[in-house]
Amino acid sequence: MNIVIFGAPGCGKGTQSERLIDRYGFYHISTGELLRDHIARKTPLGITADRYISQGHLIPDDLMLSIIDELLDSDGVKGKNVIFDGFPRTVKQAEELEKLLDKRGAAVDTVIGLEVPDEELIARLINRGKESGRADDNIDTIKERLSVYHTQTQPLRKYYENRGNYKSINGSRAVDEIFAEIAGHIDSLG
Ligand code: AMP
Repeated sequence: MNIVIFGAPGCGKGTQSERLIDRYGFYHISTGELLRDHIARKTPLGITADRYISQGHLIPDDLMLSIIDELLDSDGVKGKNVIFDGFPRTVKQAEELEKLLDKRGAAVDTVIGLEVPDEELIARLINRGKESGRADDNIDTIKERLSVYHTQTQPLRKYYENRGNYKSINGSRAVDEIFAEIAGHIDSLG
């Protein structure tokens, strides 16, 4: 089973992904974490990614897609159930992910959309910034990231609704309550 956990920055994707991994043993592909790791190691990818991330912009689709293509073939991931966290983020990425999975005999089985109002997201991200040390958790970049989310990422909701595999979840509740609903949904898929 392949799951996409979807939503705006600060909606709780990372937290819910960790819970899902604990319960179901998914392989976690978090593109944000992967890119931050490259930035910390100052790899060529990290140096390129940093320019986009620090501005709150998305890194180019082709670059992101080639990273995912390679990752899906790596030994640790092949044949595993994957949770995609922070990917896809554009309709192009979603279309290409479909092709990448299809050629491996797989598909996106469900998209879990965590919905949280912008004001709450901003408050959460400002709070997170006090501890995360993330260069992009500051008010100006947060606003840019939310604007990028609304213009480039949110259209994916329609994309997956049209495919009949979008599950809307109210993300403005206690972590346990949200997780219980997500787990119930996954269990119902068998
Ligand atoms: P995240 O940790 O998911 O909030 O991602 C942090 C930043 O990494 C984003 O604001 C983007 O700059 C970049 N990023 C992460 N995932 C993607 C993606 N799928 N496509 C393009 N850029 C991404």
